[in-house]
Amino acid sequence: MLKRLAQLACLFSAALLVVLLGFRVCSLWRTDVVLIPTGRESVFMFTSHRGGWVELDLITEWPGPRGGWWTGGARDHDEAGPFKLWAAHRSMSRYGVCLREGQLVLPQGAPGEGVICEDAYQQAVQRGYPGMMTNGDPGWAMVRGWEIKSRFAYPIALAAILPIAWGVARRVNAVRRRRRSRDGCCVECGYDLRGSSACCPECGVTRVQQHVPP
Ligand SMILES: [Zn+2]
Repeated sequence: MLKRLAQLACLFSAALLVVLLGFRVCSLWRTDVVLIPTGRESVFMFTSHRGGWVELDLITEWPGPRGGWWTGGARDHDEAGPFKLWAAHRSMSRYGVCLREGQLVLPQGAPGEGVICEDAYQQAVQRGYPGMMTNGDPGWAMVRGWEIKSRFAYPIALAAILPIAWGVARRVNAVRRRRRSRDGCCVECGYDLRGSSACCPECGVTRVQQHVPP
């Protein structure tokens, strides 16, 4: 059971690693914004910035969040995805990781149209943000959010830990089993099987199971 969970975690980690590496490569020339609704008024926003930055946002109090995926060539949200403006209540930055919590302004779009993505930045400038945009403006949503932003290297390194550990463990295990087999010991538990019967008296593994491919 535990092994199965570890396997699943490892697979998930490996898949995440592939996705992150893909976005990292794309971030050489473009920005991607992926919006995944997580509830009636909450949404998860993943941003891969052109220039190698990754940003995770959890946004709440957003009326009717929708899913979406935008791409653009800009370094920020002005050409890709829902451009957001921060009024951070708390913010800290350490070791190249930036954490923020506070209010955001997002273009909400007309009802039924979803989130505005094109020229959202120009719209924000035209509306004189910050200062003139008020809560209740139909085109914009005042929402709450948490954000973590860093270079891609951190999440990629984190996602790589499990798959690498798994690979190393497999390698170590294979070497140990080969050595035990060569020395005439049980491959599972290391019990000395020289002159002993068909299966290991210690753990019950049979001769057939003892076979270790070279
Ligand atoms: Zn054994």
